[in-house]
Amino acid sequence: MKYKVGCARCYEYERGKVLQALKEAVARADGFPKLKKQMIVKPNILAPRRPEEAVTTHPEVVKGLITLVRETVSSDMEFVVADSPGYIFTEQRDMLFQVTGMADLSRDGLATVELLSDRGLVEVEKEDAKSLKSLRVARIWLDEKYSTINVAKLKTHVETLITGCIKNIFGIADRKTRKEAHASITQRKFLDAIVDIYALREPDFHVMDAVTVMEGNGPSHGNPRTGGWIFASNNALAIDMVAAYLMGYEDPLSVPLLKAASERKYGPSSLNDIELVGATLEELRIDDYKRVVSFISQMPSFIRGMVHNLVYFYPFLNRDTCLKCGICKKVCPVDAIRMETFPIIDRAKCVKCLCCHEMCPNGSMALRESLLKKIIKR
Ligand code: SF4
Ligand code: SF4
Repeated sequence: MKYKVGCARCYEYERGKVLQALKEAVARADGFPKLKKQMIVKPNILAPRRPEEAVTTHPEVVKGLITLVRETVSSDMEFVVADSPGYIFTEQRDMLFQVTGMADLSRDGLATVELLSDRGLVEVEKEDAKSLKSLRVARIWLDEKYSTINVAKLKTHVETLITGCIKNIFGIADRKTRKEAHASITQRKFLDAIVDIYALREPDFHVMDAVTVMEGNGPSHGNPRTGGWIFASNNALAIDMVAAYLMGYEDPLSVPLLKAASERKYGPSSLNDIELVGATLEELRIDDYKRVVSFISQMPSFIRGMVHNLVYFYPFLNRDTCLKCGICKKVCPVDAIRMETFPIIDRAKCVKCLCCHEMCPNGSMALRESLLKKIIKR
């Protein structure tokens, strides 16, 4: 069986153009599956960042998707648009939705916009999980009265190399479970934790916003660039593999997260298993896409700790711009950061997960290259 991925060109977030591209991509993916009247749409709302920064799914893609479902399935569908940010203070909740543009959806009467945790969390025991046997996730996500659509953003990621449809579902887990995942003893355990969370309930359909994408040190502090595509499919891994190829991964399964999902049979086992509709592989490829290059991510965390001055990226505070907000301390999965007015990193504890870098609102937790990386670059 081939996994179909519908592709449509889209170079800007102009409402009519986005809607047209969504129509084409979804039709090329054989349309929506049977959907229930109540739906959860899961965009990437990682942090309170403006749509043009390419950190979050663009609100025009979410609007276009809701409009398309109403036009093609039923006009009386009801939508909840929800995600969990990496970290926000309670008082930042409204600001999160305002800044990302998602508040427009509720203002325009298209959807209820909320945090995934708003309707409670549920503990799930999964004996067959590869990494996390006990997970705490958003109750609403597991509620079978809702259909689910995943609306991912294509970005680089300093830990997982790419973040797309599979990684976007990591957001259904609450912060405790996500911290446990980040503190995994090996990179493979971390990747399996992401797949464990994804596997709790696979979304009914997937769309990827690759109109403007992120390159460099994503998912929060890379640079936006034009991607030029919207993708649609009923298989998350198929879209992610196509997106990885676009980024320059000749073999998308060389991306460890995608390999982990493929080995667990959540989609294609090679590009040959994918039927692209609306594009050729050659048309997708962006030759000068700036990817993350990582090998520290392959190491067990105890080795990462021992060799942290020898290998690759590590977080480094820029005091001149630090807001002293303490978000880095709150997101650190191994309590390696204490606040003494400014954050202080305990290098012996740090496992180089780079969550502090990812969630710093001001880019003040920068990345520094290790000695070995500098040598390799020469
Ligand atoms: S490094 Fe970033 S997250 Fe940490 S206190 Fe400073 S501004 Fe806040
Ligand atoms: S200090 Fe930063 S990179 Fe190190 S473990 Fe904590 S969050 Fe991860």
